[in-house]
Amino acid sequence: MSLFDRAVRLTLPITPRPLIRYFARRYVAGDTLADAVATVQRLSAEGCCATIDVLGESVTSRDLARAAVGEYLAVLDAIREHGLASNVSLKPTQMGLAIDEEFCRDNIAAILEKAHSQRIFVRIDMEDSPTTDATLRVYHSLIARFPRGTGIVLQARLRRTLADAVALGGSDVNIRLCKGIYLEPREIAYTERDIIRNNFMNVLEVLLSAGTYVGIATHDEWLVCQSLAMVRRLGLPPDRYEFQMLLGVDPQLRRIITSAGHRLRVYVPFGSHWYPYSVRRLRENPQIARVGLEAFLRGRVES
Ligand SMILES: Cc1cc2nc3c(=O)[nH]c(=O)nc-3n(C[C@H](O)[C@H](O)[C@H](O)COP(=O)(O)OP(=O)(O)OC[C@H]3O[C@@H](n4cnc5c(N)ncnc54)[C@H](O)[C@@H]3O)c2cc1C
Repeated sequence: MSLFDRAVRLTLPITPRPLIRYFARRYVAGDTLADAVATVQRLSAEGCCATIDVLGESVTSRDLARAAVGEYLAVLDAIREHGLASNVSLKPTQMGLAIDEEFCRDNIAAILEKAHSQRIFVRIDMEDSPTTDATLRVYHSLIARFPRGTGIVLQARLRRTLADAVALGGSDVNIRLCKGIYLEPREIAYTERDIIRNNFMNVLEVLLSAGTYVGIATHDEWLVCQSLAMVRRLGLPPDRYEFQMLLGVDPQLRRIITSAGHRLRVYVPFGSHWYPYSVRRLRENPQIARVGLEAFLRGRVES
């Protein structure tokens, strides 16, 4: 890791919010639902579908969790009204998981009631490891009520994930597979990049072989290449999997994947609670701060 990268990571907690917002603006569609709609329409013209995420997490008040439910219901209306090629993604702690598991489940169920009637899929994102078991319990109770209406995320970083994939995989199941963004202790997570990559591929094979629809969520071209080889080896048609990428990350790889005829879904976050999401993105790739800083300074000099 370069000195610059290390410096960015170390100073993130004390970096002024306006600067974080400036650097991370490419990862967030904007503050409003209209911004998200416009972004999804632009992506659609590029041949991508989307999943819309209302930014928010670690909610500690029931009112805030209910407000987030309201925002998701508005997103579902917008998807129908504008005929968007999009589903939605939400975070359990935004729905109140840290307050009460049943409260969280009921909040997600309220969103699923409406989404299911509109045939819109709801993805439950996976957060850090203390929430994994509760998130899986919530998922199991909801999938029983809304078959095919919802899906979970598995993180290749976690040692438990191969066993989770064996337990969860199946033909009516829709799983997003990613490396996992939360840094976890070595006792429960792989910490070496190559081991995480290998585990990603092992988990993918378990899922695809069981007939699971998999959202292959990565910008790692090695993983994209290996996944394509696996899809071909297993003889899977293009409607049994999709690739997924985050808004603002490697649009060129996005175009390479879509122009080869594979479905690609872009994660489109929006809303006023942009701070924690933006910090995670910058921590993941501090080089973005370098590019942003250079552009910022150039702008200052030129103006
Ligand atoms: C659609 C989607 C949904 C996700 N949902 C979850 C979830 O629910 N739970 C969870 O824990 N994690 C989630 N993640 C994050 C994921 O776990 C990884 O942290 C993230 O995707 C980076 O891993 P990577 O496979 O892209 O590989 P990396 O090796 O991290 O990245 C590969 C290359 O992509 C580029 N890149 C990666 N990140 C950035 C960035 N921030 N800015 C610019 N370039 C970048 C770099 O060029 C890098 O070399 C999601 C990711 C995606 C794409």
